Amino acid sequence: MTPKIADFLAAEKPPTPCLVLDLDRVEQNFRAMRAAFPDGRIYYAVKANPARPVLQRLDALGSRFDAASWEEIELCLQAGVTADRISFGNTIKKANAIRAAALAGIDLFVFDSSEELEKIAQNAPGARVFCRLAVGTVGSVFPLARKFGAGTELAAELLLRARELGLQPYGLSFHAGSQQTSAEAHEAAIGQVAMLFDELEQAGVRLRMINLGGGFPTRYQEEIPAIENFAHGIDRAMRFHFGNHPPEMFLEPGRYMVGDAGVVSTEVVLASHRLKNDPLRWVYLDIGKFGGLSETENEATRYEFRTPYDGTEDGPVIIAGPTCDSADILYEKTAYRMPLALRDGDRVEILAAGAYVTTYASTGFNGFKPLAEHYL
Ligand SMILES: *Cc1c(COP(=O)(O)O)cnc(C)c1O
Repeated sequence: MTPKIADFLAAEKPPTPCLVLDLDRVEQNFRAMRAAFPDGRIYYAVKANPARPVLQRLDALGSRFDAASWEEIELCLQAGVTADRISFGNTIKKANAIRAAALAGIDLFVFDSSEELEKIAQNAPGARVFCRLAVGTVGSVFPLARKFGAGTELAAELLLRARELGLQPYGLSFHAGSQQTSAEAHEAAIGQVAMLFDELEQAGVRLRMINLGGGFPTRYQEEIPAIENFAHGIDRAMRFHFGNHPPEMFLEPGRYMVGDAGVVSTEVVLASHRLKNDPLRWVYLDIGKFGGLSETENEATRYEFRTPYDGTEDGPVIIAGPTCDSADILYEKTAYRMPLALRDGDRVEILAAGAYVTTYASTGFNGFKPLAEHYL
């Protein structure tokens, strides 16, 4: 938790649940990434947190933006981002979304199938296109390779076809899986991409760009490698595979940029024993899976909690949300402990919760309002 967030929570005691996000931390993250990748172009993955203050702070710093839908593109444009700094980075787009984007001046589209490529050719004639490759995602908490990405053979064929369709075959992208804990997946994928660059060059198509996607981690409970470690491994792989003539390098950080900039402030609704003489307590917070903590699905993201009694005697807990849906349990298999003194009405802070939270909140399941947001 940054001092600014701690001060705000202490002074304002905002109604819970709410996200409090420190824009200066977003700026620090952006600057650290830019310093680590001096030749990279940073396209912030808007879906991680599309709030206008975040977009505007990043825009002022020179960031570009990776949008997943026409609606996210509109959010960027409304925040003052110019169309030349936006990439339409979802391989699954409606035809009219592509058309609207092209009319707005967006000139960079991704695809991973011939069907999507045809759609782009029809609705954004002459655009620059890049193909998403399916790559290995070992080491990540959320592998994204099953749903997205063409195989290498198809990718080569489609980039040749792009030229025939009057599009500009611009490059290749991949996503090494979200919350990656090592650079190895990125490094291996760079090798795969470099082979395709060669193959296409021989076929007369010169690609210009490699898009390394996102995946860079935020620290939850376990230590993670610093961004410099990723940069080091990636730089080594780029030199090894591309020598002295590297293509343009795009990065699409989402979680890394906003994750540790935000805290979700919550309140205990009930801390109860459900069996007689059982040390296990159920701690029900006023936020759960439907309030925005969707990444706790399968207990994949294991957030760190702060309570007013940290350091005092604790016991095992199951942590759950407030709704009448039995799926609304955050942690049951993961062994969490919380202070025995904790009771209803106490505030609990969820750390490093700035990514993938606000927009995952339901609009009113059980009557609960979407997560409130404060940007400092
Ligand atoms: C979600 C997404 C990202 C961001 O991923 P993180 O793991 O949050 O960095 C980047 N690129 C694409 C295409 C995405 O879908």
